[in-house]
Amino acid sequence: MNIAFELLVRAALEERIAHLLLFHSGAALERRQAGVYLAQALNCQSLRAAAPCLECSACRRIHSGNHPDVHILQPQKASLGIEEILHWQEQVYRKHYEGKYKVFILEQADRLTLPAENALLKVIEEPPERTIIILSAQNAEALLPTIQSRAQAVYFPETEKDNWLNSLDPSINPQEAEEAFMLSGNDPEGALVILDLGVAKVKQWVDQFEEAIRESDFLKVFSLFPIEKNEALIYLQVLAYQEYADVRSPGAMLAINKTLDQIRKQANPRLAIEVLALELFRQGGH
Ligand SMILES: [Zn+2]
Repeated sequence: MNIAFELLVRAALEERIAHLLLFHSGAALERRQAGVYLAQALNCQSLRAAAPCLECSACRRIHSGNHPDVHILQPQKASLGIEEILHWQEQVYRKHYEGKYKVFILEQADRLTLPAENALLKVIEEPPERTIIILSAQNAEALLPTIQSRAQAVYFPETEKDNWLNSLDPSINPQEAEEAFMLSGNDPEGALVILDLGVAKVKQWVDQFEEAIRESDFLKVFSLFPIEKNEALIYLQVLAYQEYADVRSPGAMLAINKTLDQIRKQANPRLAIEVLALELFRQGGH
């Protein structure tokens, strides 16, 4: 829960919101979703308690990017240049289509060129009425101090996961990446190994191992090999984290961690895991 953002939504609902906001840090996607949500809070046709309904025509069109008063501007090139800002400026001064708030989200605002920043500054100095401009930037410090000082800054907490997701190659499916991160027990290095092996493959191995333990079926354990050392390590890491997350059996956790240690110290992965399976059978499944 982001308290700064919660307060901002409340201010929006009470229509006492600043004209210029600077969303910074955190993850780009989260900042965009926050901007869209704020636009919904400002334009919702049937507010519920302290939140936009997300179901009225305005909320739905904002969500799908089809509301004439809500715009997201993204750089098409490495930076956001003067032409784009001048074109954008025309939209800003156009009248409202639907009468409530116009909301403009400028993504990657830390990549505005200097002339573009100066053009933006003019708009900020003569703000059109009922218009909210949201600058979304990873690094707030990259903006001109005159822009920073005029904006109400809203900090988005940076989680280890955000940092890791932001650092990945864009070709990697973000959902799969997130799942890998979760399976690894929030371990960025482990998550990379899982992505390399494939999330589905890792889950399948761990599920089958757990099934074998539940059923005390040693033949099923045999069928899980051969595996490489690095595979064995990540499978056991995922397994250990699941034990930990489910708070099932401290004995099982200890046994898994001991096996991890042995494999790291060059024990034969297959042998070590078979011994582990016997130990887990002895503990009576989970
Ligand atoms: Zn609504």
